[in-house]
Amino acid sequence: MAEVRNCTKCSTNSENLVLLSTFHKGEEKWVCTRCFPKVIHGTVEA
Ligand SMILES: [Zn+2]
Repeated sequence: MAEVRNCTKCSTNSENLVLLSTFHKGEEKWVCTRCFPKVIHGTVEA
């Protein structure tokens, strides 16, 4: 069975967009490719 994850930023799920696993402050968080650039540039926290 496929595992479905939700983006912690915009709540889209891995059925719609690619989600990337991130690790921040000891917690694993999932961020979609649309929100990931903001995380890279430090605009938002993961
Ligand atoms: Zn997102």
